[in-house]
Amino acid sequence: MNFTNSENLYKEACEHIVGGVNSPSRSFKGVGGGIPVFMEKGKGAYFYDVDGNRYIDYLGAYGPIITGHAHPHITQAITKAAENGTLYGTPTKLENQFAKMLKEAIPSLEKVRFVNSGTEAVMTTIRVARAYTGRDKIIKFAGCYHGHSDLVLVAAGSGPSTLGSPDSAGVTKNIAEEVITVPFNDIEAYKEALQHWGDEIAAVLVEPIVGNFGIVEPKEGFLQQVNDLTHEAGGLVIYDEVITAFRFMYGGAQNYLGIEPDMTAMGKIIGGGLPIGAYGGRVDIMEEVAPLGPAYQAGTMSGNPASMSAGIACLEVLREEGIYERLDKLGSLLEEGILKAAEKHNISIQINRLKGALTVYFTDKKVTNYEGAENSDGELFASFFKALLNQGINLAPSKYEAWFLTTEHTKEDIEETIAAVDQAFEKLSAL
Ligand code: PMP
Repeated sequence: MNFTNSENLYKEACEHIVGGVNSPSRSFKGVGGGIPVFMEKGKGAYFYDVDGNRYIDYLGAYGPIITGHAHPHITQAITKAAENGTLYGTPTKLENQFAKMLKEAIPSLEKVRFVNSGTEAVMTTIRVARAYTGRDKIIKFAGCYHGHSDLVLVAAGSGPSTLGSPDSAGVTKNIAEEVITVPFNDIEAYKEALQHWGDEIAAVLVEPIVGNFGIVEPKEGFLQQVNDLTHEAGGLVIYDEVITAFRFMYGGAQNYLGIEPDMTAMGKIIGGGLPIGAYGGRVDIMEEVAPLGPAYQAGTMSGNPASMSAGIACLEVLREEGIYERLDKLGSLLEEGILKAAEKHNISIQINRLKGALTVYFTDKKVTNYEGAENSDGELFASFFKALLNQGINLAPSKYEAWFLTTEHTKEDIEETIAAVDQAFEKLSAL
């Protein structure tokens, strides 16, 4: 495959844009370097780069693109919004309509507020939880990503009873010391953290089904215990559903798992491909937010008609009968095909899959937490990623990310992908 135009654009980008990319995960750093491919257009399950190469897309823009690229219903909604003016700085009917839709789908959202990114949504839930409880500290789980606000760019200390340290330059030690990080799926570690810090904890931040070290489901009973123990300690439970809301069913992972948090942060899919974030939860907690309460949060672009229209249109598509069954069926075909090819070429892999989202880990051990994902083979993944890219199959350039299917992928796309995976594994087995 020829990547000349991407190479030239990347060179130019590096002169003007820091690192040549506007989000670090788009660089190929996670796969040992290389030239990120510049895309030009997308339609359905495919996107096309500036050299005219076609790819089957499993990146899904890191999650938002679940109905495929340029879905006509969403495109029409965005066009109509643009024709009527993209921003007024006043409330609109669309915001009411979309808020009602979200509340109907996810009953724990008694009140919501729209923002512009997942980062903003999570950051605000933490502020509101602190306002409500009058406490400062939060607990999060190792390897989970919650956006780039200071408070969540904190690395684990040496154990569940130790405070965190900054995970990014520019995050102060004082901020890091407000965060305790424990391993996911380890209830004993969670109890230990609460024993030390329970009466200072404002909230626990949870990806109820993890998407950020691959797809990892909670062990039976884990999240219920987290809920119960946190409430006993006087803290709140915040679900970060930025990836999971509307990914596995029409609703959140909380509907899927049958557990309700006090607050939820969302983003990605609910914007139908335009910038969005939203948070919401129990009415007594949400009433802490300005203008009703003392916790401040605002946004010039928040609830803008284009994002609202795209989000409403996207949920209208997802509400159609059989959508998630279809994603599950395609996901299952893909999983089976990849496993078969791995067996044929004697490659050790594990696949974690839920419906239309899966992760292929190069390891022979089941992955249930960050440590497991970290210990999977990154070099093999990098070779796999590049072998697939060269056959027109586009994954996220990191061993920690998921493959996301869309409603537009077909059985034929899956078959083409499995054939490419077979060839990639053949190459890997010769390394
Ligand atoms: N939370 C989770 C679980 C995420 O996966 C992400 C982004 N990948 C975020 C928050 C941040 O969202 P955004 O990139 O829209 O700021």
